[in-house]
Amino acid sequence: MCIHLIEEKCISCGVCTGLCEHDALTLTGAWTLNLSEALCVNCKACVSGCPARALR
Ligand code: SF4
Ligand code: SF4
Repeated sequence: MCIHLIEEKCISCGVCTGLCEHDALTLTGAWTLNLSEALCVNCKACVSGCPARALR
């Protein structure tokens, strides 16, 4: 189980990377958000914190 990243909505603000306690969200080169499905435990802490609603 893993949340879903809607890439076209993401504004690369980085808020979610600070909310994830499992290091499943990381920014590469400041612009590309990477979601590790292997590390995500589906807690959804990042979903409500995303200002662009790019996570669900
Ligand atoms: S659902 Fe939880 S574990 Fe998965 S990316 Fe979001 S904050 Fe991290
Ligand atoms: S909080 Fe939302 S908009 Fe910001 S980097 Fe994460 S997914 Fe993208």
